[in-house]
Amino acid sequence: MTDAIAVLGSTGSIGRQTLEVAGELGLRVGALTAGRNVELMERQARKYLPKLVVMSDRLAARNLKIRLQDTPVEVAFGEQAERDASSAAPVTVCAVSGMAALPGVMAAAAAGGRVALANKESLVCAGSLIKETAARSGAEIIPVDSEHSAIFQCLQGNADRAEVARLILTASGGPFFGMTPAQLEKVTVKEALAHPNWSMGPKITIDSATMMNKGLEVIEAMRLYDMPLEKIDVVIHRESIIHSLVEYVDGALIAQLGAPDMRLPIQYALTYPKRLPSPAHILDLASCGLLSFSRPDMEGFPCLKTAMETSVRGEAACTVMNAANEEAVSAFIREYIGFTDIHAVTAEVLERTDCPTECGGLDEIMEYDSIARELAKKLILQRGK
Ligand code: NDP
Ligand code: MG
Repeated sequence: MTDAIAVLGSTGSIGRQTLEVAGELGLRVGALTAGRNVELMERQARKYLPKLVVMSDRLAARNLKIRLQDTPVEVAFGEQAERDASSAAPVTVCAVSGMAALPGVMAAAAAGGRVALANKESLVCAGSLIKETAARSGAEIIPVDSEHSAIFQCLQGNADRAEVARLILTASGGPFFGMTPAQLEKVTVKEALAHPNWSMGPKITIDSATMMNKGLEVIEAMRLYDMPLEKIDVVIHRESIIHSLVEYVDGALIAQLGAPDMRLPIQYALTYPKRLPSPAHILDLASCGLLSFSRPDMEGFPCLKTAMETSVRGEAACTVMNAANEEAVSAFIREYIGFTDIHAVTAEVLERTDCPTECGGLDEIMEYDSIARELAKKLILQRGK
């Protein structure tokens, strides 16, 4: 097991829980990065005393540097500093949200240690590049996303992928499960941010409400486990007790169960292949009641359908979809567009952008990302309140 970690996105939901787990495990913290939250970063830096702290916002970095003057912590800003943070420890937890995580994930994959990967957008857009980079450096990618961690755990001891019939991702269905399209037109940001089972950052919470999150997770599973779309299934499981399953060719279904608590998959990504006592809540089976399963409503929640269709069109199309969705989610959170506009904007950007099935490299991916964001912003302006 490692004795030190770096946390990219330490002020976020996954980042904070990672530091809690690291504290319990007695791990050293080599580096921390975040965007703008100077207050929290100051507290984290004073508590964990990393060698290096990087803020992606220049003003935030300047402000933090003054606040931490009396400590040995180095505060930095810029691309090189971000790369340094990504390779500051044998394990890097990648928990920046959205496509902004990609440079850090790439740098961690190039560094050759363990990449504990929470961020899914980077895999959706640049999965093959990340995997090639990791293969060259010898880095191992261990998923943190609860469904993919569950699958990772269910695959232990069964190295032969030919024995796997299907990966089954569970989905809670989010706060709007069962609503009609007319009801969905009227939902508010506050309602969308109130996830029934999980407490997460705002972007992924909205993605869970539209079910784009599950769509991104289908693509994430394709990339992580080299599985074609036909071998990945999504099932609604409202209780979020079974975190996902692997169906083997003999018909055996192996599932991972636990309380909906991200500290468990975070810790497993840090301690794998070992298991250690965890601060996560332990599931009491007798009190968790009945477990339910049903098929997702692809028409009512078209983001899932769009993501599954896009998954087979290559990484340029996935990048375009992801970028448009990020812009639309951000506009919805600012209450500029409505909930159902998120899919409308994403679908229109996809329809109006030509995407090759093969995508060259990082530069090309970043170009598709910015083309899609530009168009999404125009469409958002047209729809805006
Ligand atoms: P949050 O929004 O809570 O946190 C995001 C973190 O990223 C913050 O530390 C933020 O810094 C930082 N950040 C944002 N933009 C930048 C940037 N441009 N450069 C550097 N840092 C930046 O997100 P979550 O923790 O919820 O999610 C993180 C990732 O993990 C996402 O990809 C999500 O899909 C995935 N994930 C999350 C789960 C969860 O339970 N939360 C579950 C499974 C996956 P600051 O706030 O200081 O600006
Ligand atoms: Mg998940």
